[in-house]
Amino acid sequence: MGDENELRGKCHELSEEMARRDDKLRLVRGWYVTPNGTRHQHWWCAMEDGTIVDPTSGQFAFKGGDYEEYDPSRHGPEPVGKCIECGELAYNSELLPFCSSSCNEGYIALTRRRRSVGCTPPRRASHQSNEHRIKEAPV
Ligand SMILES: [Zn+2]
Repeated sequence: MGDENELRGKCHELSEEMARRDDKLRLVRGWYVTPNGTRHQHWWCAMEDGTIVDPTSGQFAFKGGDYEEYDPSRHGPEPVGKCIECGELAYNSELLPFCSSSCNEGYIALTRRRRSVGCTPPRRASHQSNEHRIKEAPV
């Protein structure tokens, strides 16, 4: 096990901590693009003059890649959460916790089907609080 594996998945945590400790640094989210064009979702820090300070650059086997900062005009809206039905990123807060009305409908159809199967124990309070969060899909 080398450093590469230890750093993977920690870019957000470590960059956030670095930016918090040094007020000259800004936390940046975007992609690390390797010379062969592979895009990795990534977090790093940047100074005011644009100099990149990446505490987890060691995780990338390819050196000399490009740092592409997230830009809503190029990359679309910021995700607001994760869909509990398909696991994809969700971009519309109106539809949370789903990414789309079809996932919302699919989830509701599934829970209705589960409920209609016999032998279900009486509902408990914890189940009810979950159901409250399920929104009906807009027609
Ligand atoms: Zn979904």
